Amino acid sequence: MLDFTYQAFAARIVFGPGKISEIADEVDRLGGKAALLISTGSQRAAADAAAAALGQTCVARIDGAVMHVPRGDVQNAVALARQHKCDCVIAIGGGSAVGVAKGVALETELPILAVPSTYAGSEMTDIWGISEGGGKVTGRDRRVVPKCVIYDPDLTRGLPARIAGPSGINAMAHSVEALYAQNRNPVLSMVAEGGIRALAAGLPAVCDGTADDEARGQAVYGAFMCGLALATATMGIHHKLCHAIGGTFQLPHAETHTILLPHATHYNRDAAPDAMTAIARALDAESAAGGIFDLAARIGAPTALRDLGLDEKNLDRAADIATESPYYNPQPVDREGVRALLDNAFHGRRPA
Ligand code: NAD
Repeated sequence: MLDFTYQAFAARIVFGPGKISEIADEVDRLGGKAALLISTGSQRAAADAAAAALGQTCVARIDGAVMHVPRGDVQNAVALARQHKCDCVIAIGGGSAVGVAKGVALETELPILAVPSTYAGSEMTDIWGISEGGGKVTGRDRRVVPKCVIYDPDLTRGLPARIAGPSGINAMAHSVEALYAQNRNPVLSMVAEGGIRALAAGLPAVCDGTADDEARGQAVYGAFMCGLALATATMGIHHKLCHAIGGTFQLPHAETHTILLPHATHYNRDAAPDAMTAIARALDAESAAGGIFDLAARIGAPTALRDLGLDEKNLDRAADIATESPYYNPQPVDREGVRALLDNAFHGRRPA
């Protein structure tokens, strides 16, 4: 019997190569007359073109949004938006540019138009995060959900394999956990499986440099669906581990996700059989965990925590942190099992 709650955040999605050229129409549709344009350094050329297309509607710019959304950067952006009486914020770039725009929206309630250039998926969620004093404050707020998202796969043309691969598998992690989430539902499961399938179809060509419009589009389409999954699904052991390890030992975000995902999936293999079937089907693989590991290896993404410079003696502490407070996961979380998972991830063993 179907019996579920599905929470959606309604946003306008404009998808296709070259669609950033429609940015002025989309800002107009939002009712924007004075935009603050925020971009990542790598998207300078796209931001310049967007500013030219917007003409006098682009009244202020910030180039070079950096990782982790520092509080000072958000305060500067808010001040600039107020100074120029902005009525909307545009973010062109990865999770960092979108993150600053979300910080502005949180304080000013200005609508966001996002043009993502990675697979992070932040543009689909109500999650914001601001770093300050060595820590990161995060929260959920409907005001930070972009009103319009332009997915233009052309923006990912310059994405190097070392960023594209981990960014894509990081996105996939949201869908993997959505498939066995406590609040899973048929709509979310369909979106999550579709996201994994599309990323798996597009990433190999993106990472070996042979991608055409179709492959680039599949990867971005997959990232869109995985962002949708992250927006409403509760996350389990994988995300808990990534935060415990990544946050405590300062490991790179997407790479940590990439390495741990096959092992977290393997951990849940008996407790979430439907999810495992869906993941394996989406990857066209014999097993969910093995399929994810093989995809990561094929696209040249890291597969062992030791390659990120983590000291093996920190694994005990990581297991303690990841098991100290209870949370939902299909397979009950026990320290011994988590410690074994971490050992396999440290050495980069393919899940059996
Ligand atoms: P990012 O925006 O910092 O981009 C990573 C790197 O890639 C940067 O050096 C950037 O300049 C470069 N880059 C971006 N697009 C490029 C392109 N097309 N070509 C070449 N280089 C390009 O980070 P990200 O990986 O997009 O996102 C990760 C961040 O987003 C993390 O801080 C994470 O916490 C956050 N995030 C937030 C949410 C949310 O819902 N709030 C969701 C996912 C990720």
